[in-house]
Amino acid sequence: MKPRRATALVALVAAFHLRAGEPKKATTPAPPPAIRVTLLGTGNPRPSMTRFGPSILVEAGTKRILVDAGRGATQRLFSLGDGMLSGIDLVLLTHLHSDHVVGLPDLWLTGWIFGREKPLLVRGPEGTAAMMSHLKAAYAFDIGIRRDVDERFPAAGIEVDAVDLQSGASFELDGVKVTAFAVDHGVVKPAYGYRIDYAGRSVVFSGDTRPSRALVENARGVDVLVHEVIVPSVEMMRSAVADATKIRSIIDHHTTPEDAGKIFAEVKPRLAVYSHIVPSPAAEKDLVGPTRKTYSGPLAVGYDLMSISIGEKITVEKRAVSVE
Ligand SMILES: [Zn+2]
Ligand SMILES: [Zn+2]
Repeated sequence: MKPRRATALVALVAAFHLRAGEPKKATTPAPPPAIRVTLLGTGNPRPSMTRFGPSILVEAGTKRILVDAGRGATQRLFSLGDGMLSGIDLVLLTHLHSDHVVGLPDLWLTGWIFGREKPLLVRGPEGTAAMMSHLKAAYAFDIGIRRDVDERFPAAGIEVDAVDLQSGASFELDGVKVTAFAVDHGVVKPAYGYRIDYAGRSVVFSGDTRPSRALVENARGVDVLVHEVIVPSVEMMRSAVADATKIRSIIDHHTTPEDAGKIFAEVKPRLAVYSHIVPSPAAEKDLVGPTRKTYSGPLAVGYDLMSISIGEKITVEKRAVSVE
């Protein structure tokens, strides 16, 4: 998906309308998408400027949900405009690998400075509640100063409501249904994928996983499937500088494009999207060619700020940034 081409097309359509000089007709605006998914970061542990750490914003109804909070999630949310950073209702963690959570203290603390007045809801696998209580201890100085001494920000805004979920757990938040399911991230247990359903539309996030039957079962009939991917040939290039055995073990914890294609072919989503792309330098050609050996349906290679609107139609565009 080439965002520049889409922009050019929109400009062309606008120009045609101007030349035609037609009087403006009262048209019913298209209904807003039931779910909007924005890839805030499509990378991995590598501190890349083009692919930030894994984090995805889901807007459904009145709710804003973040799936993982990797490096840079705070900057990306803030760049989307007023109230986005402080307005996160729920954070879902797929697993506690640092690349998925290292941005969470930033989001939690800075979101409070920028206006959050209610506790941050955090849900994830076993260990989530303990991690959040340790973060409260780690940042006790800042919390105390800003809450009780200096700015006197609302006390509720820095509270955390953190719960460890069991695999298969499902709950609703103002009509937005969230289901957690265990995936297969090798020895990294527990690791979850999530399904979000709202107003008859749905999206599934694989989290980090090898090919997983549980993911296929939970993703049946889904509109959009966002899946992680690793390109072994590109990842192995690092063996010149890193231990090849360790690289092979990393590859074994993830899903190759060929295997992801088999999953897409079975699930048949209306759109399959790659995010959490390993390694970061893997290019579109490294991903699409091998996927096409096993899957011929709709596919998009994710990039930071790719926004997917899920409604009657599914549209993909680069989300505009309003604050630099
Ligand atoms: Zn990861
Ligand atoms: Zn991981």
